Amino acid sequence: MNPELRVISEGTAELELPHSCPTCGGALELRISPDGVRSFCGVCHFIGRPRLQQFEEGTFFLDFRELPLA
Ligand SMILES: [Zn+2]
Repeated sequence: MNPELRVISEGTAELELPHSCPTCGGALELRISPDGVRSFCGVCHFIGRPRLQQFEEGTFFLDFRELPLA
């Protein structure tokens, strides 16, 4: 997986992660901002607030557990 980070403004960026939707396995759009991480699936419209961790360059881990869905 080699996601491309798109910087929107200072402190805010978007990221598309293919095959990452926990519901349908579709591509997830992530928005990372000072308020946290929001995820949106364009296929099934799943919206979540995952924790996003970057282990190393280009390697991300999403954790949808233990968080209420928006
Ligand atoms: Zn989905």
